[in-house]
Amino acid sequence: MALAATRVPSFAQPPASAEKPGSPTSEPARGGGKPVGYAAIGLGAISDLFMQACAKSQTAKIGALVTGHPETKGKHYAELYGIPESSIYTYDTFDRIADNKDIEAVYVGLPNSMHREYTIRAAHAGKHVLCEKPMAISSGECEAMISACRNGNRLLMIGYRVHYDPTHLEAKRIIQSGALGPLQAFEGAFGFNAAPNQWRLTRQYGGGGPLMDVGIYPLNEIRWLLEEEPSEFTAVSTTRDHSSGRFADVEQTLNWTMKFPSGIVAALGCTYGADMPGFLRIHGDKGSLEITNAYSYQGPHLVSLGGGAHIDTATQGEATFHFQLEAEYFTNCIRTGTVPKTPGEEGLHDLRAIEAIYKAAGTPIA
Ligand code: NAD
Repeated sequence: MALAATRVPSFAQPPASAEKPGSPTSEPARGGGKPVGYAAIGLGAISDLFMQACAKSQTAKIGALVTGHPETKGKHYAELYGIPESSIYTYDTFDRIADNKDIEAVYVGLPNSMHREYTIRAAHAGKHVLCEKPMAISSGECEAMISACRNGNRLLMIGYRVHYDPTHLEAKRIIQSGALGPLQAFEGAFGFNAAPNQWRLTRQYGGGGPLMDVGIYPLNEIRWLLEEEPSEFTAVSTTRDHSSGRFADVEQTLNWTMKFPSGIVAALGCTYGADMPGFLRIHGDKGSLEITNAYSYQGPHLVSLGGGAHIDTATQGEATFHFQLEAEYFTNCIRTGTVPKTPGEEGLHDLRAIEAIYKAAGTPIA
Protein backbone atom coordinates (compact mmCIF):
# COMPACT_ATOMS: atom_id res chain seq x y z
CA MET A 1 0.00 0.00 0.00
CA ALA A 2 1.47 3.30 -1.04
CA LEU A 3 0.33 5.32 1.95
CA ALA A 4 2.79 6.17 4.69
CA ALA A 5 1.08 7.46 7.82
CA THR A 6 2.27 8.59 11.22
CA ARG A 7 -0.01 9.09 14.22
CA VAL A 8 -3.33 9.11 12.47
CA PRO A 9 -6.12 10.08 14.87
CA SER A 10 -9.06 7.82 15.45
CA PHE A 11 -11.41 9.97 13.40
CA ALA A 12 -9.08 9.63 10.46
CA GLN A 13 -9.00 5.82 10.53
CA PRO A 14 -10.94 4.28 7.67
CA PRO A 15 -13.66 1.88 8.78
CA ALA A 16 -12.52 -1.75 8.56
CA SER A 17 -14.89 -2.39 5.68
CA ALA A 18 -13.82 0.60 3.59
CA GLU A 19 -12.41 -0.10 0.17
CA LYS A 20 -8.69 0.61 0.21
CA PRO A 21 -8.09 3.60 -2.02
CA GLY A 22 -6.36 2.86 -5.28
CA SER A 23 -3.21 0.88 -5.52
CA PRO A 24 -2.14 -0.53 -8.87
CA THR A 25 -3.43 -4.07 -8.88
CA SER A 26 -0.83 -5.79 -11.04
CA GLU A 27 -3.48 -8.48 -11.21
CA PRO A 28 -5.29 -9.72 -14.29
CA ALA A 29 -8.21 -7.51 -15.36
CA ARG A 30 -11.62 -8.66 -14.21
CA GLY A 31 -13.92 -10.05 -16.87
CA GLY A 32 -11.74 -12.52 -18.68
CA GLY A 33 -8.15 -11.73 -17.74
CA LYS A 34 -7.17 -10.26 -21.11
CA PRO A 35 -5.39 -6.90 -20.72
CA VAL A 36 -7.10 -3.94 -22.34
CA GLY A 37 -5.14 -2.72 -25.36
CA TYR A 38 -4.76 1.07 -25.52
CA ALA A 39 -3.67 3.25 -28.43
CA ALA A 40 -1.63 6.25 -27.31
CA ILE A 41 -2.56 9.30 -29.38
CA GLY A 42 0.17 11.96 -29.38
CA LEU A 43 3.54 10.71 -28.17
CA GLY A 44 4.62 13.63 -25.96
CA ALA A 45 5.56 13.96 -22.30
CA ILE A 46 2.37 12.70 -20.74
CA SER A 47 1.86 9.82 -23.16
CA ASP A 48 5.41 8.73 -22.42
CA LEU A 49 4.52 8.42 -18.71
CA PHE A 50 1.24 6.68 -19.50
CA MET A 51 3.03 4.15 -21.72
CA GLN A 52 5.63 3.49 -19.00
CA ALA A 53 2.77 2.92 -16.55
CA CYS A 54 1.09 0.45 -18.90
CA ALA A 55 4.36 -1.43 -19.31
CA LYS A 56 4.26 -2.07 -15.53
CA SER A 57 0.66 -3.21 -15.59
CA GLN A 58 -0.80 -6.63 -16.16
CA THR A 59 -4.22 -5.26 -17.05
CA ALA A 60 -3.49 -2.32 -19.35
CA LYS A 61 -1.22 -2.59 -22.36
CA ILE A 62 -0.11 -0.20 -25.11
CA GLY A 63 -0.99 -1.92 -28.38
CA ALA A 64 -0.99 0.92 -30.92
CA LEU A 65 0.50 4.37 -31.50
CA VAL A 66 -0.88 7.44 -33.25
CA THR A 67 1.74 9.98 -34.23
CA GLY A 68 2.73 12.55 -36.83
CA HIS A 69 6.22 11.01 -36.78
CA PRO A 70 5.71 7.29 -37.54
CA GLU A 71 9.27 6.75 -38.79
CA THR A 72 10.97 8.23 -35.74
CA LYS A 73 8.86 8.43 -32.58
CA GLY A 74 6.51 5.72 -33.85
CA LYS A 75 9.28 3.20 -34.50
CA HIS A 76 11.06 4.09 -31.27
CA TYR A 77 8.05 3.38 -29.06
CA ALA A 78 6.96 0.38 -31.15
CA GLU A 79 10.33 -1.22 -30.51
CA LEU A 80 10.24 -0.29 -26.83
CA TYR A 81 6.81 -1.81 -26.21
CA GLY A 82 6.72 -4.62 -28.77
CA ILE A 83 4.07 -3.03 -30.98
CA PRO A 84 3.77 -4.30 -34.58
CA GLU A 85 4.50 -1.75 -37.33
CA SER A 86 0.98 -2.30 -38.64
CA SER A 87 -0.31 -0.74 -35.40
CA ILE A 88 1.49 2.58 -35.92
CA TYR A 89 -1.05 5.11 -37.23
CA THR A 90 -0.75 8.72 -38.31
CA TYR A 91 -3.41 11.37 -37.67
CA ASP A 92 -4.57 10.74 -41.25
CA THR A 93 -4.83 6.96 -40.97
CA PHE A 94 -6.14 6.91 -37.38
CA ASP A 95 -9.72 5.96 -38.34
CA ARG A 96 -8.45 2.58 -39.58
CA ILE A 97 -7.98 1.68 -35.94
CA ALA A 98 -11.63 0.57 -36.09
CA ASP A 99 -10.34 -2.63 -37.71
CA ASN A 100 -7.72 -3.28 -35.02
CA LYS A 101 -9.35 -5.77 -32.68
CA ASP A 102 -6.41 -5.68 -30.24
CA ILE A 103 -7.30 -2.09 -29.36
CA GLU A 104 -10.25 -1.45 -27.06
CA ALA A 105 -9.43 2.07 -25.85
CA VAL A 106 -7.41 5.16 -26.66
CA TYR A 107 -5.40 7.49 -24.44
CA VAL A 108 -5.61 11.09 -25.69
CA GLY A 109 -2.35 12.87 -24.80
CA LEU A 110 -2.64 15.66 -27.36
CA PRO A 111 -2.71 19.45 -27.01
CA ASN A 112 -5.99 20.60 -25.42
CA SER A 113 -7.72 21.79 -28.59
CA MET A 114 -7.21 18.40 -30.26
CA HIS A 115 -8.99 16.37 -27.54
CA ARG A 116 -12.45 16.92 -29.04
CA GLU A 117 -11.61 15.68 -32.53
CA TYR A 118 -9.71 12.56 -31.45
CA THR A 119 -12.22 11.59 -28.77
CA ILE A 120 -15.05 11.77 -31.29
CA ARG A 121 -13.09 9.91 -33.97
CA ALA A 122 -12.15 7.22 -31.43
CA ALA A 123 -15.79 6.78 -30.39
CA HIS A 124 -16.78 6.49 -34.04
CA ALA A 125 -14.08 3.82 -34.43
CA GLY A 126 -15.68 1.89 -31.56
CA LYS A 127 -13.00 2.60 -28.94
CA HIS A 128 -13.39 3.68 -25.31
CA VAL A 129 -11.63 6.96 -24.45
CA LEU A 130 -9.34 8.01 -21.60
CA CYS A 131 -8.75 11.71 -22.31
CA GLU A 132 -6.29 14.03 -20.58
CA LYS A 133 -7.36 17.17 -18.75
CA PRO A 134 -8.56 19.74 -19.64
CA MET A 135 -11.20 17.68 -21.42
CA ALA A 136 -11.42 20.30 -24.19
CA ILE A 137 -11.27 24.06 -24.63
CA SER A 138 -14.98 24.86 -24.28
CA SER A 139 -18.06 23.41 -22.62
CA GLY A 140 -19.65 23.03 -26.07
CA GLU A 141 -16.79 20.76 -27.13
CA CYS A 142 -17.21 18.71 -23.96
CA GLU A 143 -20.90 18.23 -24.71
CA ALA A 144 -20.09 17.02 -28.24
CA MET A 145 -17.55 14.51 -26.85
CA ILE A 146 -20.01 13.18 -24.28
CA SER A 147 -22.69 12.75 -26.97
CA ALA A 148 -20.33 10.95 -29.35
CA CYS A 149 -19.27 8.45 -26.67
CA ARG A 150 -22.83 7.97 -25.46
CA ASN A 151 -24.13 7.43 -29.00
CA GLY A 152 -21.33 4.97 -29.70
CA ASN A 153 -21.98 3.22 -26.39
CA ARG A 154 -18.32 3.84 -25.42
CA LEU A 155 -16.97 4.85 -22.00
CA LEU A 156 -15.33 8.24 -21.57
CA MET A 157 -13.00 8.98 -18.66
CA ILE A 158 -11.02 12.17 -17.99
CA GLY A 159 -7.52 11.81 -16.55
CA TYR A 160 -8.02 13.52 -13.19
CA ARG A 161 -5.18 11.80 -11.32
CA VAL A 162 -6.08 13.32 -7.98
CA HIS A 163 -9.31 11.31 -7.69
CA TYR A 164 -7.27 8.09 -7.70
CA ASP A 165 -4.46 9.18 -5.39
CA PRO A 166 -4.56 7.68 -1.86
CA THR A 167 -3.60 10.92 -0.10
CA HIS A 168 -6.27 13.02 -1.81
CA LEU A 169 -8.78 10.23 -1.19
CA GLU A 170 -7.81 10.35 2.48
CA ALA A 171 -8.47 14.10 2.57
CA LYS A 172 -11.91 13.49 1.11
CA ARG A 173 -12.61 10.76 3.63
CA ILE A 174 -11.63 12.99 6.55
CA ILE A 175 -13.89 15.79 5.27
CA GLN A 176 -16.77 13.38 4.85
CA SER A 177 -16.21 11.96 8.35
CA GLY A 178 -17.18 15.41 9.68
CA ALA A 179 -13.88 15.74 11.56
CA LEU A 180 -13.28 19.27 10.21
CA GLY A 181 -16.83 20.37 11.02
CA PRO A 182 -18.72 22.41 8.43
CA LEU A 183 -16.25 23.62 5.81
CA GLN A 184 -15.72 27.35 5.38
CA ALA A 185 -12.97 28.07 2.90
CA PHE A 186 -10.27 26.77 0.57
CA GLU A 187 -6.98 28.29 -0.54
CA GLY A 188 -4.88 26.81 -3.30
CA ALA A 189 -2.58 27.33 -6.26
CA PHE A 190 -0.47 25.63 -8.91
CA GLY A 191 1.92 26.93 -11.54
CA PHE A 192 5.21 26.67 -13.34
CA ASN A 193 7.54 28.93 -15.27
CA ALA A 194 6.68 28.03 -18.87
CA ALA A 195 9.40 27.69 -21.49
CA PRO A 196 8.77 29.69 -24.67
CA ASN A 197 7.57 28.35 -28.02
CA GLN A 198 5.18 25.65 -26.95
CA TRP A 199 1.53 24.94 -27.81
CA ARG A 200 0.48 25.74 -24.20
CA LEU A 201 1.18 29.42 -24.83
CA THR A 202 -1.23 29.61 -27.78
CA ARG A 203 -4.97 30.10 -27.72
CA GLN A 204 -5.22 27.84 -30.74
CA TYR A 205 -3.88 24.75 -28.97
CA GLY A 206 -4.06 25.63 -25.27
CA GLY A 207 -7.49 27.27 -25.41
CA GLY A 208 -6.37 29.56 -22.58
CA GLY A 209 -3.39 29.95 -20.28
CA PRO A 210 -2.46 28.47 -16.90
CA LEU A 211 -6.09 28.26 -15.78
CA MET A 212 -6.77 25.60 -18.44
CA ASP A 213 -3.58 23.72 -17.72
CA VAL A 214 -2.81 23.97 -14.00
CA GLY A 215 -5.49 26.11 -12.33
CA ILE A 216 -7.85 23.30 -13.25
CA TYR A 217 -6.27 21.08 -10.57
CA PRO A 218 -7.46 22.93 -7.44
CA LEU A 219 -10.67 23.90 -9.26
CA ASN A 220 -11.49 20.27 -10.00
CA GLU A 221 -10.38 19.01 -6.60
CA ILE A 222 -12.58 21.41 -4.66
CA ARG A 223 -15.62 20.56 -6.81
CA TRP A 224 -14.88 16.88 -6.18
CA LEU A 225 -14.37 17.29 -2.43
CA LEU A 226 -17.57 19.31 -2.01
CA GLU A 227 -19.73 17.54 -4.60
CA GLU A 228 -21.15 20.98 -5.29
CA GLU A 229 -20.86 23.33 -8.28
CA PRO A 230 -19.49 26.87 -7.84
CA SER A 231 -21.99 29.57 -8.73
CA GLU A 232 -20.26 32.96 -8.20
CA PHE A 233 -16.84 34.03 -9.44
CA THR A 234 -14.40 36.94 -9.30
CA ALA A 235 -11.12 36.86 -11.18
CA VAL A 236 -8.15 38.96 -12.18
CA SER A 237 -5.53 38.05 -14.75
CA THR A 238 -2.19 39.72 -15.30
CA THR A 239 0.87 39.57 -17.52
CA ARG A 240 4.14 41.12 -16.31
CA ASP A 241 6.45 39.64 -18.92
CA HIS A 242 5.99 41.73 -22.07
CA SER A 243 9.46 41.09 -23.44
CA SER A 244 9.88 37.35 -24.05
CA GLY A 245 6.85 37.01 -26.32
CA ARG A 246 5.55 34.08 -24.28
CA PHE A 247 2.31 35.80 -23.32
CA ALA A 248 1.17 37.36 -26.58
CA ASP A 249 -1.81 35.01 -26.62
CA VAL A 250 -2.63 33.84 -23.08
CA GLU A 251 -2.46 35.25 -19.55
CA GLN A 252 0.66 34.81 -17.44
CA THR A 253 -1.06 34.63 -14.06
CA LEU A 254 -4.67 34.38 -12.96
CA ASN A 255 -6.18 34.48 -9.47
CA TRP A 256 -9.82 33.86 -8.78
CA THR A 257 -12.41 33.28 -6.12
CA MET A 258 -15.42 31.04 -6.31
CA LYS A 259 -18.41 30.72 -4.04
CA PHE A 260 -20.60 27.65 -3.74
CA PRO A 261 -24.34 27.66 -3.08
CA SER A 262 -23.57 26.34 0.46
CA GLY A 263 -21.63 29.57 1.14
CA ILE A 264 -18.20 27.92 1.08
CA VAL A 265 -15.61 30.08 -0.68
CA ALA A 266 -12.29 29.35 -2.41
CA ALA A 267 -9.40 31.70 -3.20
CA LEU A 268 -7.12 30.19 -5.84
CA GLY A 269 -4.29 31.09 -8.17
CA CYS A 270 -2.31 29.76 -11.11
CA THR A 271 0.60 30.95 -13.19
CA TYR A 272 2.90 30.24 -16.13
CA GLY A 273 5.36 32.75 -14.67
CA ALA A 274 6.81 31.04 -11.58
CA ASP A 275 7.49 27.57 -10.28
CA MET A 276 4.61 27.66 -7.84
CA PRO A 277 4.28 24.37 -5.93
CA GLY A 278 0.74 23.02 -5.93
CA PHE A 279 -1.10 23.20 -2.63
CA LEU A 280 -4.60 23.14 -1.21
CA ARG A 281 -5.73 24.26 2.26
CA ILE A 282 -9.09 23.17 3.54
CA HIS A 283 -10.59 25.05 6.48
CA GLY A 284 -13.50 23.90 8.61
CA ASP A 285 -15.02 24.97 11.95
CA LYS A 286 -13.09 22.30 13.84
CA GLY A 287 -9.83 22.05 11.95
CA SER A 288 -7.81 22.56 8.81
CA LEU A 289 -5.89 20.35 6.42
CA GLU A 290 -3.12 21.19 4.00
CA ILE A 291 -2.03 19.17 0.97
CA THR A 292 1.40 20.15 -0.30
CA ASN A 293 3.07 18.83 -3.42
CA ALA A 294 -0.57 18.44 -4.20
CA TYR A 295 -0.53 18.10 -7.98
CA SER A 296 2.90 16.60 -8.63
CA TYR A 297 3.25 13.10 -10.00
CA GLN A 298 4.94 12.05 -6.78
CA GLY A 299 4.49 12.69 -3.10
CA PRO A 300 1.21 14.52 -2.37
CA HIS A 301 1.48 15.18 1.38
CA LEU A 302 -1.47 15.75 3.73
CA VAL A 303 -1.07 17.35 7.16
CA SER A 304 -3.34 18.87 9.76
CA LEU A 305 -2.80 22.55 10.54
CA GLY A 306 -2.90 24.14 13.97
CA GLY A 307 -4.14 22.25 17.01
CA GLY A 308 -6.36 19.22 17.18
CA ALA A 309 -5.70 15.80 15.80
CA HIS A 310 -2.37 15.21 14.11
CA ILE A 311 -2.37 13.99 10.52
CA ASP A 312 0.72 13.42 8.42
CA THR A 313 0.42 11.12 5.44
CA ALA A 314 1.91 11.06 1.95
CA THR A 315 1.72 9.05 -1.23
CA GLN A 316 4.79 7.01 -2.06
CA GLY A 317 5.54 5.65 -5.50
CA GLU A 318 7.17 6.41 -8.81
CA ALA A 319 6.15 9.11 -11.30
CA THR A 320 4.10 6.49 -13.16
CA PHE A 321 2.04 5.59 -10.07
CA HIS A 322 -1.01 7.79 -10.78
CA PHE A 323 -1.04 6.78 -14.43
CA GLN A 324 -1.01 3.09 -13.58
CA LEU A 325 -3.88 3.65 -11.14
CA GLU A 326 -5.87 5.43 -13.84
CA ALA A 327 -5.13 2.89 -16.58
CA GLU A 328 -6.05 -0.05 -14.36
CA TYR A 329 -9.14 1.67 -13.03
CA PHE A 330 -10.39 2.40 -16.57
CA THR A 331 -9.52 -1.14 -17.62
CA ASN A 332 -11.83 -2.48 -14.94
CA CYS A 333 -14.56 -0.02 -15.97
CA ILE A 334 -14.30 -1.40 -19.51
CA ARG A 335 -14.32 -5.02 -18.34
CA THR A 336 -17.28 -4.51 -16.01
CA GLY A 337 -19.23 -1.92 -18.03
CA THR A 338 -18.97 0.60 -15.18
CA VAL A 339 -19.19 4.36 -15.76
CA PRO A 340 -15.88 5.83 -14.51
CA LYS A 341 -15.94 8.11 -11.48
CA THR A 342 -14.30 10.85 -13.56
CA PRO A 343 -16.57 10.74 -16.63
CA GLY A 344 -16.93 13.39 -19.34
CA GLU A 345 -19.44 15.27 -17.20
CA GLU A 346 -16.63 15.98 -14.71
CA GLY A 347 -14.64 17.67 -17.48
CA LEU A 348 -17.73 19.53 -18.67
CA HIS A 349 -18.36 21.04 -15.22
CA ASP A 350 -14.75 22.23 -15.05
CA LEU A 351 -14.99 23.87 -18.47
CA ARG A 352 -18.19 25.64 -17.44
CA ALA A 353 -16.40 27.02 -14.38
CA ILE A 354 -13.33 27.95 -16.44
CA GLU A 355 -15.54 29.87 -18.88
CA ALA A 356 -17.13 31.72 -15.96
CA ILE A 357 -13.71 32.54 -14.47
CA TYR A 358 -12.35 33.91 -17.76
CA LYS A 359 -15.52 35.96 -18.15
CA ALA A 360 -15.08 37.35 -14.62
CA ALA A 361 -11.47 38.23 -15.50
CA GLY A 362 -12.70 40.17 -18.53
CA THR A 363 -11.15 37.77 -21.05
CA PRO A 364 -14.03 35.52 -22.10
CA ILE A 365 -13.21 32.45 -24.17
CA ALA A 366 -16.73 31.29 -24.95
P1 NAD B 1 3.54 17.54 -25.18
O1 NAD B 1 3.79 18.76 -25.96
O2 NAD B 1 4.67 16.92 -24.47
O3 NAD B 1 2.91 16.42 -26.13
C1 NAD B 1 1.91 16.70 -27.10
C2 NAD B 1 1.96 15.68 -28.20
O4 NAD B 1 1.00 16.03 -29.20
C3 NAD B 1 3.33 15.61 -28.91
O5 NAD B 1 3.66 14.28 -29.14
C4 NAD B 1 3.10 16.31 -30.23
O6 NAD B 1 3.91 15.82 -31.27
C5 NAD B 1 1.62 15.97 -30.49
N1 NAD B 1 0.98 16.90 -31.40
C6 NAD B 1 0.20 16.55 -32.44
N2 NAD B 1 -0.21 17.61 -33.12
C7 NAD B 1 0.33 18.68 -32.52
C8 NAD B 1 0.27 20.06 -32.79
N3 NAD B 1 -0.44 20.54 -33.81
N4 NAD B 1 0.94 20.88 -31.98
C9 NAD B 1 1.65 20.40 -30.93
N5 NAD B 1 1.75 19.09 -30.63
C10 NAD B 1 1.10 18.24 -31.43
O7 NAD B 1 2.34 17.88 -24.20
P2 NAD B 1 1.96 17.14 -22.84
O8 NAD B 1 2.57 17.85 -21.70
O9 NAD B 1 2.19 15.69 -22.97
O10 NAD B 1 0.39 17.46 -22.76
C11 NAD B 1 -0.56 16.75 -23.52
C12 NAD B 1 -1.90 16.77 -22.80
O11 NAD B 1 -1.75 16.15 -21.54
C13 NAD B 1 -2.44 18.17 -22.52
O12 NAD B 1 -3.84 18.17 -22.67
C14 NAD B 1 -2.08 18.42 -21.08
O13 NAD B 1 -2.97 19.31 -20.42
C15 NAD B 1 -2.17 17.03 -20.50
N6 NAD B 1 -1.28 16.84 -19.35
C16 NAD B 1 -1.74 16.17 -18.29
C17 NAD B 1 -0.92 15.99 -17.19
C18 NAD B 1 -1.41 15.20 -16.01
O14 NAD B 1 -0.70 15.14 -15.02
N7 NAD B 1 -2.57 14.60 -16.08
C19 NAD B 1 0.38 16.49 -17.19
C20 NAD B 1 0.86 17.14 -18.31
C21 NAD B 1 0.02 17.31 -19.41
